[in-house]
Amino acid sequence: MVEHVVVIGAGVYGAAVTASLTRRGARVTVVDAAAPAGGTSGATFSWTNSCGKQPRPYHDLSVASMAAHRALAAQVPHSDWYHEGGNLEWADDEAGRARLRKKVEGVLDYGYEARWLTRAEALSLEPDMNPAELPDEEIAYFPQEGWIEPTRLIGHLLSTSVRGGAELVRDDAVTELEVTDRLVRAVRLASGRRIAADAVVNCAGPRADRITDLAGLVLPMRNTRGVLIYTSPAAVSVSRVIHAPGVHLRPDGGGRLLLHTHEIDSAAHLDDSGEISVEQAAVDKVIEAGRALYPGMRAVTVESVRVGERPIPGDGLPVLGRAVDLPNFHFAVSHSGATLSVHAGDLVAAEVLGEDRDAALAPFRFERF
Ligand SMILES: Cc1cc2nc3c(=O)[nH]c(=O)nc-3n(C[C@H](O)[C@H](O)[C@H](O)COP(=O)(O)OP(=O)(O)OC[C@H]3O[C@@H](n4cnc5c(N)ncnc54)[C@H](O)[C@@H]3O)c2cc1C
Repeated sequence: MVEHVVVIGAGVYGAAVTASLTRRGARVTVVDAAAPAGGTSGATFSWTNSCGKQPRPYHDLSVASMAAHRALAAQVPHSDWYHEGGNLEWADDEAGRARLRKKVEGVLDYGYEARWLTRAEALSLEPDMNPAELPDEEIAYFPQEGWIEPTRLIGHLLSTSVRGGAELVRDDAVTELEVTDRLVRAVRLASGRRIAADAVVNCAGPRADRITDLAGLVLPMRNTRGVLIYTSPAAVSVSRVIHAPGVHLRPDGGGRLLLHTHEIDSAAHLDDSGEISVEQAAVDKVIEAGRALYPGMRAVTVESVRVGERPIPGDGLPVLGRAVDLPNFHFAVSHSGATLSVHAGDLVAAEVLGEDRDAALAPFRFERF
């Protein structure tokens, strides 16, 4: 019987798994090598979406995950980490428009909510946008999408878990897993502490492959870096996620805005000492695109630039649930974890404690590698 579970990693996945296990009555120790939310979950665009997710089971998991965020926020007073403001997206060339049409048709086929807006309709949602930056029509609107503030969500999940009896260990890396007779028996930490476990959940994000190595298994990962620009506060009305051709942006609390584009990701460079720097010209270009779209951003400055590492399993899809060859070792690893973690973490936790979640988890098993 599973009584004591060790969760490795305290990002969105580790926090969600810990909260669900604790709620279900397990004794949990969650261990992080650094601070909770100090990994990818602290440097993410965290757009909650199922926009263009393929294949169908991944789309369905994302839709269920958005519903789980909504339900959690409805249950918790002052759950101000969850923002369901919708997402606007448009393109500025024919190839981009063709891709967007295909995406909208695809999600409508799946029964997902999407609408085409005119410029006037988009401006009624986001009145501070510069009309000259918008096309007359073909602005896609996905009303159920939004964003979360992962650090606040993690704070809530860990706080309720600790109040429910869980132990949170910070600044102590997992360095060894003791495995005998096809079971993980204990976790060893850098401090020398040994924690006996009935089950272990790998929520180590971009380092999940290393934890898998410690278990004697191999998890292929193809992580990528992403650059995020956090501005100073601006008195401009931005209420939803915006995907414009030259800039993606959303509010980030206290009047700050968070900006990203796919192009800027290639402007992050790792030097020989392990330091990451981002080309200033690339940051300036994204800020200029933001100012062109929202003239009210004219006076913003860059408060910080963060580089996050997307934890991407080898085929791009989540890895969730138990390992067949090591049945008390479980995975909760994916990109899009800001969207998926509350729901996917709950499925994983239920399986850890012996409930059957095979129908939902089958497409995401580790054994496909
Ligand atoms: C630029 C960028 C944009 C993104 N945009 C989105 C988006 O719009 N929507 C979306 O849904 N997702 C998005 N993502 C992905 C999403 O942020 C991640 O999937 C999610 O944050 C991963 O959470 P995690 O808990 O798995 O990992 P993490 O948050 O990295 O947590 C893992 C934790 O494990 C700990 N750890 C590692 N090794 C050890 C060890 N040996 N011992 C103990 N602890 C260890 C780390 O310290 C860390 O705290 C984005 C990511 C990036 C980088």
